[in-house]
Amino acid sequence: MNERRLVPIAFLPCVMALLLASSAQAQSTVIAGGTVIDGTGRSIRDATVVVTGDRIACVGSSAECPAPAGATRVDATGRFITPGLVDAHVHFSQTGWIDGRPDGLSVPDLYPYPETARALRANPGRWYRAYLCSGITAVYDVGGHPWTTRLPGAAERDPMAPHVRAAGPLITHAGPAALNVDEEIYTFLPMATSADVQSSVAKLKAMGAQAVKVWYLAPQPARRAELDARMMEVGAAAKAAGLDLIVHATGLREAKVALRAGAVLLVHSVEDQRIDDEFLGLLSANRAVYAPTLTVGRNATRASVAIGLGQRFPIDDPGRCVDADTVAKIGNVEPLRPLIPEERRSPDVAFRRLEAVGARVALMGENLQRVHASGNTIVAATDAGNPLTLHGPSIYDEMEAMQAAGIPAADIVLMATRNGARAMGRAGDFGTLEAGRIADLLVLAEDPRTDERAFRTLTHVMRAGRLHRQADLAQR
Ligand SMILES: [Zn+2]
Repeated sequence: MNERRLVPIAFLPCVMALLLASSAQAQSTVIAGGTVIDGTGRSIRDATVVVTGDRIACVGSSAECPAPAGATRVDATGRFITPGLVDAHVHFSQTGWIDGRPDGLSVPDLYPYPETARALRANPGRWYRAYLCSGITAVYDVGGHPWTTRLPGAAERDPMAPHVRAAGPLITHAGPAALNVDEEIYTFLPMATSADVQSSVAKLKAMGAQAVKVWYLAPQPARRAELDARMMEVGAAAKAAGLDLIVHATGLREAKVALRAGAVLLVHSVEDQRIDDEFLGLLSANRAVYAPTLTVGRNATRASVAIGLGQRFPIDDPGRCVDADTVAKIGNVEPLRPLIPEERRSPDVAFRRLEAVGARVALMGENLQRVHASGNTIVAATDAGNPLTLHGPSIYDEMEAMQAAGIPAADIVLMATRNGARAMGRAGDFGTLEAGRIADLLVLAEDPRTDERAFRTLTHVMRAGRLHRQADLAQR
């Protein structure tokens, strides 16, 4: 298909008009002739989308949506228009490689963590472009350093940033000290006592966190009763503070405790056993959202295996959205090889590790199918920032894994748009293509209702009414 068909025909005159009369009425763009998949479950062939300023003004037929005078016209014949993608689980204070997770593989000579952490804080928009370039126009940071709680306000005003919601530091009983740098850069808050719970939640509220995130790793059996009670206290304190409770709980038992404590978002799959009806009942009673994150564990294993073999793992980045520094860092595996014990560096160990993680992904896929069949709300969520789960393009692999688990492609489109906006508390602002919503949308060459791989054929990204060619957002 000819790329030029989507070059705005009236672009130059409109820009000039805008420059000459900035106080005049907002500029309009009309995207015509494509198939709109609006994120509510509705599709419209030969549709017209009218965007005025940063908002969608009309979605419908050309008769229903006449072009405003002077509008820029974009021909989308043969293409597919969807809402911008929402990644409902990311970490701005992680890098996509091991330097951001010294609690996993620590290599302080090559990657001193305080330096990595300070560099991220100094450049908080570090990952914005990779997101837009990949078609992601909103992200939920479900845990990070205190500065991440300042991102939502700044990102909302920045047309080159996705919308951001941020939970800030995690409350946990199990925080590795490796991820705390100083009193300004830290990842964990305590829940060892009832007083801890109160002060941790108060601290989050004061720093502007938009949720209370608990990292609820499975406690030792002897400590279950005590820590389950503490989890309930966190839920009550979050509610009193007016903050959503969101929980990392990959064990079925812990996930149920989290839901009883009032969790409205489970940021990972249950991955230790098959979920049951009690779990599904708790999920629906809370109207809680389930974020499967099928690929992050496999990606981390790939990273570790690649380092052990001294092989660079190929980067899956069809839009060239990942920046060159990150790509170079990921390619530099040889100096890391000594970190992997000798006996784990052989190919047969590598194959067995990949098979084991594949089995876990299969169980997560079965659980995802059960959640889907129960009618509960599911989102697309990558856990971006973890090793080889790269900010931006990792969403494609995640959606394809959901499809491989048996979720219909058309349903995944809803999970990756409308449901993500709901999880962020922003359903009235974006996630669907409806009049009045912020004009965040994608143009694809192929149909995502039949195959999620269509998102790899992204040709254009519109954020708040500004249309970008995907290639213009590439970083290498
Ligand atoms: Zn995470």
